[in-house]
Amino acid sequence: MKIIESIREMQDAADALRREGRRVAFVPTMGYLHEGHLALVRRARQLADVVVVSIFVNPIQFGPKEDLARYPRDFERDRKMLEAETTDIIFSPDYREMYPEGYHTYVQVQALEDHLCGLSRKGHFVGVATVCTKLFNIAKPHYAVFGQKDYQQLAIIQRMVRDLNQDLEIVPYPTVREEGGLAMSSRNTYLSGEGRDKALSIYASIVRLKELFAAGERAARRLKDEAERVLRSKDGVEIEYVSISDPETLEELETVTQSAVYAVAVRVGATRLIDNSKLGEG
Ligand code: AMP
Repeated sequence: MKIIESIREMQDAADALRREGRRVAFVPTMGYLHEGHLALVRRARQLADVVVVSIFVNPIQFGPKEDLARYPRDFERDRKMLEAETTDIIFSPDYREMYPEGYHTYVQVQALEDHLCGLSRKGHFVGVATVCTKLFNIAKPHYAVFGQKDYQQLAIIQRMVRDLNQDLEIVPYPTVREEGGLAMSSRNTYLSGEGRDKALSIYASIVRLKELFAAGERAARRLKDEAERVLRSKDGVEIEYVSISDPETLEELETVTQSAVYAVAVRVGATRLIDNSKLGEG
């Protein structure tokens, strides 16, 4: 396994791999890896013969009041986990090389950012789209694997790749959950035992909405009311949003005709958690 920090060195390695006719699958992460990330790495391994994982806590996707400074980091732990998964290259650039003095270029995917997390996290998805574009230009992968856990992020990256003719395929991967249903997240490390218990209401709301949907409920208002009721059944779960939206456009629905995404963001103490599930598919 190679660890590459320099952008030039990563681009040269990517060029050499492409010249040799090798297929490259890429998994962008912010590190502090968990089983969800490793599942993406295993999917990448199935897709291609070379797996590149980036570890980069992207400062421009954090708002001024968000958790950039305290975002968990442990490179050595990540390195060992990736080595065990037979990762070929870890790319971990320095933010000063990614965003040097005079950096002025940003990628904005309009419309899709005007929903869900985009409403409270202004500029977040510009930061995400920008860093992904840069990473795609540096690692030059044939495939990039993204988790459905971050549904809006996935939708935005898929739209961006189509709109800008970026020459790679985006491969979605289902949300990996802990026992009990909490979606794995690097931010779960912020939760106390009690916080974790409260956070289980998120998955309970997903299970409940799937039941209601299967029983024929199609009115978004009633689905959302029920989600809120389940979330509020635990004290200390502060709802940021519950949404029933179109899976493609992310626009709020009044009535679900075919499929929809139930998406939710809550705060448990200072920890912001998101989750989602498709209704009407699978
Ligand atoms: P992050 O390090 O949180 O930026 O996430 C890096 C990638 O891992 C993104 O594509 C996420 O959607 C994905 N990911 C994070 N948590 C999970 C999970 N529990 N299940 C599946 N994918 C995940």
